[in-house]
Amino acid sequence: MNTAICENPVKQNNPANQLQWEQINCNLCGADNTEIYHRERLPYFEQLLDFQIVRCRQCGLVYTNPRLADHNATYLYGSDFNPDQIEAHAHAKQNVFERALNEITALYQSNHNPNATKNPPTLLDVGCGSGHFVALARQHNFEASGIEPTQASARYATEILNVPVHIGPIADIELPPQSIDIITAWDVIEHVADPLAVMQRCSSWLRPGGIMALRFPSSTWQKIKGLILHNLLASRRPVFSPTMHLYFFNVRTFTQMAQRVGLTVLKAKTTPAEANTDNHLLNYAKLTSQIFLRTIETAGRKPIGNLEVYCRKLT
Ligand SMILES: [Zn+2]
Repeated sequence: MNTAICENPVKQNNPANQLQWEQINCNLCGADNTEIYHRERLPYFEQLLDFQIVRCRQCGLVYTNPRLADHNATYLYGSDFNPDQIEAHAHAKQNVFERALNEITALYQSNHNPNATKNPPTLLDVGCGSGHFVALARQHNFEASGIEPTQASARYATEILNVPVHIGPIADIELPPQSIDIITAWDVIEHVADPLAVMQRCSSWLRPGGIMALRFPSSTWQKIKGLILHNLLASRRPVFSPTMHLYFFNVRTFTQMAQRVGLTVLKAKTTPAEANTDNHLLNYAKLTSQIFLRTIETAGRKPIGNLEVYCRKLT
């Protein structure tokens, strides 16, 4: 990946800041040929920063550029790990996780004879956070483990939920090639500096015929929300959240990425939004927006909301 630390070309409110910005080429096609997709201003610790989200003119990938070199700082250093909050957040995701696990089980079994092996299928949850999906998969008899770079989340998973977790960034974790039956990555791919490298690594760990399932914000849905909230309602509520969200795929760009790493997309669908904040009005707005989204989707006949995608490793 071509990455260069640069002077931030976007005007900052605080000229005395010492933030490091990096300018990047397209992660999918390597080009450096973009147009502005959206602009967003949002607070980062004590400062108010202006970001631009761009779209590659060659392949359509949407990404934050330039971006903060320390883009995951709010997760890695600034998070407040309150056990009650962790459990509330996990509770809000419970239905999404259960439906996803059912989907994965059906896809996996459609290609594997459960009587052919006595061993349960292996499942690796990349970016497993506090480990709730790993715990759910283990309850359903998967031999499941996780990878998590944030120490506090990983400790919650290992010490409170008692599930196995490899602690560290995915690039530092060594696993035998073609050793995993199922890999999941929920709300992860938008955060990583080099999604193509992460996808390549995951694909190398998957057995031929294995399943990879991901969930991520869609570029199309973020743009619709950005137009409504920022342009129409003059709201400052974050939509793209580019202090930590670096990439925004749609079905087309993700399908290209999957093909690059030897995966074929079996299914892509809009994932339901969970009401996961303390703000009841915001939870209500999230759920209401889903009705609006379904109406557009029915008219357009393709998923444009935040996506759940299921892929198979080619044999
Ligand atoms: Zn591109």
